[in-house]
Amino acid sequence: MNRIQVIKRTKLFLEIAEKFPDFRYLGDSILRKKTKPATIKEGIKIGKRLVSILIEYRKTTGIGRGLAAPQINIPKSVFVTYLDNEVQIYINPKIISKSKKLNYFRELCLSCGTMWADIKRPDTISMQWKDKTGKTQIREFSGFVARLIQHEYDHLLGISNLDEAEAKTIEFVTSDPLQEKLRPA
Ligand SMILES: [Zn+2]
Repeated sequence: MNRIQVIKRTKLFLEIAEKFPDFRYLGDSILRKKTKPATIKEGIKIGKRLVSILIEYRKTTGIGRGLAAPQINIPKSVFVTYLDNEVQIYINPKIISKSKKLNYFRELCLSCGTMWADIKRPDTISMQWKDKTGKTQIREFSGFVARLIQHEYDHLLGISNLDEAEAKTIEFVTSDPLQEKLRPA
């Protein structure tokens, strides 16, 4: 019986929706639009704003490892990550390769409220982006960080994690998201 966890999670969602007026949720058209490239100056400004909101969100919920510009109603190609106490700003990112090897993970998204879903994605990716000095960076990412980056990148394409859910896996979040592990596909 998961009724109590559903009530707890729904109350937290209500608190978040009230506390973060900039957040947009599925059903808002901004989350379905492809973003436009940002100038470096714009990208830095947007990135800093995303970082400060994400840090505040983490303080409130204990979770939250990434945030993309459309999620706060900005139609530009910028997202940020917050992992191991380190923040990164990615401006105009482009995934240039993806591994054949895939894995599964139950993904949560603050734009999807209280629901999560199991999604299959490549284990390793290469991405290029502009950093805050305007320099082009190219790096390979694998494991959880690759997963996180692909989730945020999808927001820039107007795609939500629930769009890519494995059949019959969309569920209320009733266990600790931080305990989720990548599973081989
Ligand atoms: Zn998301």
